[in-house]
Amino acid sequence: MGSVAPRAHVVVVPFPAQGHVAPLMQLARLLHARGAHVTFVHTQFNYRRLLRAKGEAAVRLSAPGFRVEVIDDGLSLSVPQHDVSTLVDSVRRNCLDPFRALLKRLADEEEEGVPPVTCVVADVVMTFAPAAARETGIPEAQFFTASACGLLGYFEYDELLKRGLVPFNDASCLTNGYLDTPLEWVPGMGHMRLKDMPAFCRTTDPDDVMVAVTLEQMKSAVGSKAIILNTFYELEKDVVDALAAFFPPVYTVGPLAEVIASSAPADNADLGAIDISIWQEDRQCLAWLDGKADKSVVYVNFGSVAVMTASQTREFALGLASCGFPFLWVKRPDVVDGEEAALPEAFLDEVARGGGLVVSWCPQAAVLNHAAVGLFVTHCGWNSLLEATVAGLPVLGWPVFAEQTTNCRQVCECWRNGVELPEEVESRAVVGLVKEMMAGDLGKGKRAKAAEWKAAAEGATMKGGSSWRSIERLVDVVLQVWSK
Ligand code: UDP
Repeated sequence: MGSVAPRAHVVVVPFPAQGHVAPLMQLARLLHARGAHVTFVHTQFNYRRLLRAKGEAAVRLSAPGFRVEVIDDGLSLSVPQHDVSTLVDSVRRNCLDPFRALLKRLADEEEEGVPPVTCVVADVVMTFAPAAARETGIPEAQFFTASACGLLGYFEYDELLKRGLVPFNDASCLTNGYLDTPLEWVPGMGHMRLKDMPAFCRTTDPDDVMVAVTLEQMKSAVGSKAIILNTFYELEKDVVDALAAFFPPVYTVGPLAEVIASSAPADNADLGAIDISIWQEDRQCLAWLDGKADKSVVYVNFGSVAVMTASQTREFALGLASCGFPFLWVKRPDVVDGEEAALPEAFLDEVARGGGLVVSWCPQAAVLNHAAVGLFVTHCGWNSLLEATVAGLPVLGWPVFAEQTTNCRQVCECWRNGVELPEEVESRAVVGLVKEMMAGDLGKGKRAKAAEWKAAAEGATMKGGSSWRSIERLVDVVLQVWSK
């Protein structure tokens, strides 16, 4: 199973955002380690931002049988990363022809020793890539980089429309209790409410771009030959089983970083140096954590895309300043949307006396696994939740957009390893829930659950575990069956 196929050539196409590029790069490196020739395709938007931040040497690294290509997406660098609808729409409008041209060029290169393309593995968001692959008869698999519950949430947009629940009648639906509408009919997750569905459906516009592209993406995914999910079966069993009724074979291969660690042969070390983040990591925060007692620090990070208002920032700052625990807040330079107000004196005093640290970007996996960290305040981005699961840390969720709401509902109702902050966040709620989670019975219960999920993740990713077996099957299909 999973042995080297000398003629396999896999073209890997991530959506241009850190939470997408990282898992697709992990999968690309794994396929390369198993003997595939890999072409990893950035779009210009992400590539130019990476170049600007880190320089060509860090970004366009190649190794024998692995190279990076770039296609045009028509996006200007002035588009902010959090303007997801512009990114998604531009990619969908502009990338098909450049990607077709790339596939053609790769076919023409055959004579120069590059094997013909045998498979395209595309991010579910990048619908142009499977479309181009199908035109030329190349098998394609699709990688949904978020949770199984997120995928099912997006899949149910069609049903939300059919049932007349979306689009909303008017903006009052956001505040009049309509979002509490129970969705007991959703298979595998009947505890969802309208407010828990991926948040792009909160629209009054019958022609909403994100709803339209979601329908397109789901249609494309349903027609794919395989769906790859960076989750593990034990964590999302009910949902994965429900997905099986609608989707092609689903491979649950996560958390990928852990599966790779227990999967032979070893990765090409040169490729480990490829940089996929536009931010500079502050490693000083690890030394700062070294000076703190075990499980005493509240770690706050809202990922690479989410933004918040100045007043929400202030509420978090006030809450952290008076929660009674040291805090590490990773506050991206672009995390505040609009004009940033001065942070409260109490917060600045706390930082000045060493009770809190604010940095722009951190090595998150290392922080989550640091003994001093006791709680993760998170936007519930899927990579962050997976990393928290691996670290066995309880979470305090404050979902911002996309399927973060769905993930957070699962945290609270299903996995029970965390609780949610109110959407209209206030410092009092931050103080109350941080205290409860760090020192109260609530936290004790959530920590116990987090420890159970950590053990389950270890079981799934070790040799013979569910994700390990799934990756072996996937490698076999992609590198052997499809390359014949
Ligand atoms: N991340 C990091 N350092 C930071 C913030 C985030 O390394 O300071 C990484 C984090 O470990 C995760 C990814 O960025 O792998 C964020 O992905 P996620 O799906 O959690 O959220 P998104 O950024 O897509 O909203």
